[in-house]
Amino acid sequence: HFITLEGGEGAGKSTLAKALAQRLRDGGASVVTTREPGGSPKAEAIREAILAGRIKQYGAFAEALMFSAARIDHIDRLIRPALAQGNWVICDRFIDSTRVYQGVLGDIDASLLGELEQVTIDGLMPELTLILDLDPEIGLARAAKRRSPGESVDRFEGEALAFHRKLRGAYLDIAGREPQRCVVIDAALPAEELADAAWSALRDRLPI
Ligand code: C5P
Repeated sequence: HFITLEGGEGAGKSTLAKALAQRLRDGGASVVTTREPGGSPKAEAIREAILAGRIKQYGAFAEALMFSAARIDHIDRLIRPALAQGNWVICDRFIDSTRVYQGVLGDIDASLLGELEQVTIDGLMPELTLILDLDPEIGLARAAKRRSPGESVDRFEGEALAFHRKLRGAYLDIAGREPQRCVVIDAALPAEELADAAWSALRDRLPI
């Protein structure tokens, strides 16, 4: 089964990915956790180039194409083989990050992004997407706290609060439009309670 985790900066996606993987493993399942952008060697190289700002000069659409190139490699090299071998796959960020970040920030036409998404995933829709919903003021404070001294700020951490509010709204819009795939979880909860809420959503929707 293929599960994705989505949300803004500091929502707790990577912590939740680990907690869910542990609970599934405790129940005897095999689990692969991965992340985007990245997840395979070539996709990680593209991640590095994007996050270092080396693609930005070519424009937002070129950047969206690079995210897609990374996703295609990640799907082909890691996600599909892992699923074919009977693993659960938990991915930290996937298509909704592109819809929200490239769509909202890059201002790329939604129908064009939609076509690109279809070509990129070629039918590999997540069965369940957990959207970690959090007030951006809390998320940004968490992300700043987590950063080690000297580490550069995250790609969008420096953006105005209004931008992060827009992202939050865009995630909630997706959840409203695709309730069969998406579950919104309150990411202000302490980590353990957040994991409990995510676990119960998972048990409700997927056979464990
Ligand atoms: O989730 P993580 O912090 O690893 O993401 C790295 C950065 O890439 C973040 O700043 C995130 O907002 C950005 N990103 C993006 N477009 C995507 C996925 C992530 O701009 N499709």
